Amino acid sequence: MIVLRAALVALVTTTATAARATDCPRKDTLGTARVMTVNPQAFPRVGLKSFPQTLPLADKEVVLTFDDGPFPATTTKVLAALASECVQATFFLIGRNAEANPAIVRKIAASGHSIGHHTWSHRPLDKIGQPQALEEIDRGIAADEMALNGTATRLPSTPFFRFPGFASTPALLAHLQSRGIAVFGADLWASDWNPMTPDQQLQLLTARLDEEGKGVILLHDTKAQTAKMLPAFLQYLKRNGYKVVHLAASQQIKSSSHDR
Ligand SMILES: [Zn+2]
Repeated sequence: MIVLRAALVALVTTTATAARATDCPRKDTLGTARVMTVNPQAFPRVGLKSFPQTLPLADKEVVLTFDDGPFPATTTKVLAALASECVQATFFLIGRNAEANPAIVRKIAASGHSIGHHTWSHRPLDKIGQPQALEEIDRGIAADEMALNGTATRLPSTPFFRFPGFASTPALLAHLQSRGIAVFGADLWASDWNPMTPDQQLQLLTARLDEEGKGVILLHDTKAQTAKMLPAFLQYLKRNGYKVVHLAASQQIKSSSHDR
């Protein structure tokens, strides 16, 4: 059975490399069921692992989020798998990775995914002091925006942020809220920071999802095991009636009124 499943993963991965986001929507794919616009005023913090509130998802609705990229070897595989099933996700980028791989940042955006922010270098913001934490946040946003739009601004085009390791502080949460930036935790995850086979990860993630029934899912596009698992996970969602919800900002931040 495990051999069979591995063969299926390999087959789906091969198919995925041939598909492009521009071919979507496409019959017999999982597809993106709907787009939810997230207003940071109404939802300043979401994700039940860290906060009391999350996004208003219906049963069987999931949001796919990927952290820590872009990382060429694995992010491109994740993008191919998503394109193969015509689903959109949100990528929380590390600024220095975005600076090193601007073409992939633009490919993520061109494929219809949303781009959130995950600091410059993934330091624990609850441990380094407020000035350095703000520098990590702003330098990360600026690097992501530079890769995306050619402008190093601390105003994020999509005002979504996730703390490295979910390590927030009350002061930083208040700061981000004052800037109209929504903070994302997660409702469930695959624990893909722990080494395991793609098959083990699939079992873990699908068991957790079936238990919760819906939610904002955290994955890492920097992990080879996650990139390998993803095609089979998307098939699982399709077979079991789950719907993918894509997140978009309710309005892109254009004003400089929040700038310091
Ligand atoms: Zn991270």
